[in-house]
Amino acid sequence: MIEYSKIEEFFAPEGLFQQNFPPFEIRTSQRDLARRITRTINEKRFLIAEAGTGVGKTFSYLVPAMLYADQEEQPLVISTYTKNLQMQLAQKDIPQVAQILDLNLEIAVLMGRSNYLCRTRLQFLHQKKEQFPVRLLPQIYLWAQETEEGTFEEWSFADHPEIWSLIAADADGCQGQFCPHQNDCFVQKARRKCQQADIIVINHHLFFSDLKMQNSEEQSLLPSHQVIIFDEAHHLEQTGIDFLGTDFSQVEVIEIIGEIRDFLGRLQKEKKDGLNFATLFSALQGLEEKAQAFFFEFDRELERNNPRFIYPGWWQKLQNSPLELLESMEALNRGLVVGEEVFPEELTLALGELRNRWGKLIASLDYFLDLPGDNFVSWLEGDGKNLILRSLPLFLDDFLIQSLYPQVESLIFTSATLSINDQGAYFAENLGLPSERTDTMILGSPFDYDQQAILLIPRDIPPPQDPDFVGKSIEIFQEVFPVLGPRNLLLFTSYQMLQSFYREIEGFCEEKGVEVFVQGKRAVSQLLRDFRESPRAIMLGTASFWEGVDLPGADLTSVILFRLPFPVPDDPWISGKARELEKQGKNSFTHLMLPRAIIRFKQGWGRLIRSFSDRGILLVLDRRILTKNYGKIFCSTLPERLPIIEGSAQKLFTAGKKFWERAGEIWTEVEK
Ligand code: SF4
Repeated sequence: MIEYSKIEEFFAPEGLFQQNFPPFEIRTSQRDLARRITRTINEKRFLIAEAGTGVGKTFSYLVPAMLYADQEEQPLVISTYTKNLQMQLAQKDIPQVAQILDLNLEIAVLMGRSNYLCRTRLQFLHQKKEQFPVRLLPQIYLWAQETEEGTFEEWSFADHPEIWSLIAADADGCQGQFCPHQNDCFVQKARRKCQQADIIVINHHLFFSDLKMQNSEEQSLLPSHQVIIFDEAHHLEQTGIDFLGTDFSQVEVIEIIGEIRDFLGRLQKEKKDGLNFATLFSALQGLEEKAQAFFFEFDRELERNNPRFIYPGWWQKLQNSPLELLESMEALNRGLVVGEEVFPEELTLALGELRNRWGKLIASLDYFLDLPGDNFVSWLEGDGKNLILRSLPLFLDDFLIQSLYPQVESLIFTSATLSINDQGAYFAENLGLPSERTDTMILGSPFDYDQQAILLIPRDIPPPQDPDFVGKSIEIFQEVFPVLGPRNLLLFTSYQMLQSFYREIEGFCEEKGVEVFVQGKRAVSQLLRDFRESPRAIMLGTASFWEGVDLPGADLTSVILFRLPFPVPDDPWISGKARELEKQGKNSFTHLMLPRAIIRFKQGWGRLIRSFSDRGILLVLDRRILTKNYGKIFCSTLPERLPIIEGSAQKLFTAGKKFWERAGEIWTEVEK
């Protein structure tokens, strides 16, 4: 039981928090959230807690979490979506709160396998020396001896991520209990540390991986625990869906066949008996031909439709039966079995790793031959370089209802974007949260939106599906541009739209001396750094930029949303889920497209104001926000006191100019 008085002591005016961070004002919403999380844990309930930017939710959950971990036998688990937040919690926030609370807690961070060095893969790195500068080998071996955690964070060769991919641990290739390095394996070491920890910081992907293990014969990664706090919880559903999906890709098949061929060549040189090389090479040749024929047929299928939905029994209509390919793959797998001590340990290990990966591929193809119909969507897609069979579950609720909720006492889901229309029902429904155990709390940002921002919406603009939309939106953008401040983020719903806008705007920007940064042209960190340093710039982004960009203060002075971010209807998962919802008698627009668009819209405009001193303009070029019935729901996500100006481009320009004049310090040099 967490003592409520300790929460009050921490968050009270002039309490522990304020004593340790004197410039910070106590925010009532932060204290309210901490109280509510405490009650949720004490009363063994679930909580959906939406907390807008500026509430300070991290401390709100860390204080009760750490008080709980200090007195309970079992650890408390915190799960994040991004590695950045995971590391920030472990390296900064948790130690800070522990120090203020004077608690001595064991903290463990567990990341996905690919973040750890695999000693087995390192052992045969020299065999892949044509793939990296070989002069680095001695330094890499030295680093591997000296590294403490063996993580990518500690990796000293940041300029050589390609080497890391050759030595990173990989679930498909891991030999598990048969690995001779098991005792000094970094993955195992991190897991052992978790067994002793009071607080374990993981990510959502790992959370699902652990949950799946708990339901199988495999050993769970995490020790027994009763309380989980999910930060960045809006990513939970998609992470779970992706995690429970299956892929079978052409590139992977070709790569492993190549690796097996190279490897057999090396084995043959080493020792001629032990494996029947002639049979194996000929099996490999036959397999390659079957794979080629198989993927060629896929290619023909895609000429008609890309992506192409597939269904149980779909393969029976193909000429080149995947069953034959599967049989050849299994035959090769059997041929690769060697007796003990036939080859030196290093080669046997490498062979084991290849067989494991090959075995996973066989299991994937087998899955597609026996495809589940209900509640899964499966399709074939290709981009000219790779053909992939993909299958994803449409719903996550059943999996969580069966495997998670009965096992835990308390769950807290928090993020700045969980609610629709001030309710957590959509999030709760997608995750199948039990209504009798689940509460919702929604806390808006504490910023002074009436002073810090304005929203501009043009009147004379056609709807986005109109052929004149792009031309007119560019015209309005150019007219309002002088009052948007020095650094503007333009968010698009598709890369295609971004590109067509870019082509149209390039000349205008050149003429005005404005630098244009385009997502995908450089690494994101470099792009953001250059954008921040530029005296006058626009950044064009899509997808992850709607939520993954944090540019406080004068680093960002406006956000421009070209259209309301409805999901692309021909995305296979979206269209599969829409079909299934309709079959269940539900309206796919209100149950899927609209809620997804609203969450993304909140994420997009949420880029603008990140702190109390920020000022900025939000320009929405999609009038449906005012003209459509559903527009009201989008508007309801905006801060109540945010001034909304609607009208001609000239009116918007004047409003923007006045806004900066009022705000004063950041941007007053308007040109018009
Ligand atoms: S146990 Fe697995 S991850 Fe660890 S060293 Fe061995 S093969 Fe690599």
